[in-house]
Parts: sequence; structure tokens; C-alpha cells
Amino acid sequence: CGIVAYIGPREAYPIILKGLKRLEYRGYDSSGVALLNKDLRVYKKKGKVSELEDSLVGKDLHAHAGMGHTRWATHGEPNDRNAHPHHSASGRLAMIHNGIIENYTQLKQELMRKGYHFNSDTDTEVLLNFIEDIQKNNNCGLEEAVRIALRRVVGAYVIVLLDKDMPDTVIAARKGSPLVIGIGKGEHFLASDASPIIEYTKEVVYVNDYELAILKADELILKNLGNEKITPFVQKLDLEMAAIE
Ligand code: GLU
Repeated sequence: CGIVAYIGPREAYPIILKGLKRLEYRGYDSSGVALLNKDLRVYKKKGKVSELEDSLVGKDLHAHAGMGHTRWATHGEPNDRNAHPHHSASGRLAMIHNGIIENYTQLKQELMRKGYHFNSDTDTEVLLNFIEDIQKNNNCGLEEAVRIALRRVVGAYVIVLLDKDMPDTVIAARKGSPLVIGIGKGEHFLASDASPIIEYTKEVVYVNDYELAILKADELILKNLGNEKITPFVQKLDLEMAAIE
């Protein structure tokens, strides 16, 4: 299972697709991408990344921000519906997730009492709508909603979110699952390990547990869940490191 994301001046889709292929060795049962332009498009499919690729021939894949996912199913059988990315109830947000949200049943019940319906059997869609619900109720930005939500979450995760109303931003967070940021010139990459990043840049930042990354093409902000800024520790990647990661 793996994640990859991009924001910058290049076309996001080819970078994401190639990244997903680099992460195939980790094992997975389905894959998908979300592409953010003015609209937020989600394409996903059970099976190999190459099957996703074939199914996207002729589709509108133009975007300068996007994310991709390979899923190793833990909650819900491997099928198109349970594949990531997931759309939030309003369609405004999309999210990918590696890991497990252990208290998702409780969160799901809370949301169902509020009238939420779910399109998948995943713990991921529960967390996504939990975030959207906070965003709506507190009338706050996505970043703050993610922070509030993650304080309630029990489990291990890497999550990456796109918001239709913020086409210049990618938000990611981790706890217990690996996450690497690649720093390019006017562009940022994000992945589960350095293998999808190394051909574009050697400058990386390893995100720590309970940290939130707010990525724009030319800006990287790291924060903890208490909304304090953290100075990113930029490391130079060498090929050996990339092989180990
Ligand atoms: N728990 C999530 C699911 O079953 C994510 C699995 C993964 O790590 O790929 O959909």
C-alpha cells in the first residue's frame, strides 16, 4: 500500500502514475487518483495500476495538483467502491489513507445519527466525513478541521486531502505510517517512501508522527496538532537511502 502526491507547475497525473508503479512492490489490491484543477476528479479501480491507467485513456487528466493511492484492504473488501480516493459527502473534499482508524465504528455511528450516508465500507470514508463535518460545524478551514479530527482518532495513518475550494494546497498528516516530502524548485512531492521522489529531487523532509504538512507549489509548512509551526529538517537523499527506505 502506498501514497503519492504532487503540486507544482507540471502535469500531476504522469508523476503520480509513475510513483504508484514505483510503490507497487509494497503490495496492494486496488488503486486510484484524485486530480484537482477547478474541479476535483476521482478515478479508482480494483486491480493493478496498469488497469487503472488503461481505464483512464481519453479522460480529462489535466491538473497541477493531485494524489494517488494503492490500497491494501483492511475495512471492506477490495472493489471499485472501497478503493481510494474517497469523496466527502458534499463532494468538496477527497482523501487517501494508508493505515487503520481503530475507533471508526464510534465515529461512524455519530455521523449516521447526523444523517450521513456512506458509499463504501472503509474506515477512511468515516474519517473523511468526520473531517468535513467539523469543517462545516466550526466554519473553519480544512487544516484546522484535520487537526481537530486527528485529536479524536485512534489508530495509525497517513492521510492526504484535497479541497475543491483550495486548488493550490495539499494537506497531509501521519501517525505511525511513513511519509516523505520531496522539495523541488517551485514544486512539492509526497510519498510513502522516497522511491517515487528521487528522480525529481534529492531534498527531502521526513514527516514525524502527529505532524501536519501544508504543501503549496512554492511553500511547505509543517505543524503539530497543537497548531505550532515546526521547522522542516531538510535531508539530502542519496541512492542508498532511497533503497533502504
Ligand atoms: N483502512 C483503509 C482501507 O481499508 C486503508 C488501507 C490501506 O492502508 O491501504 O481502505
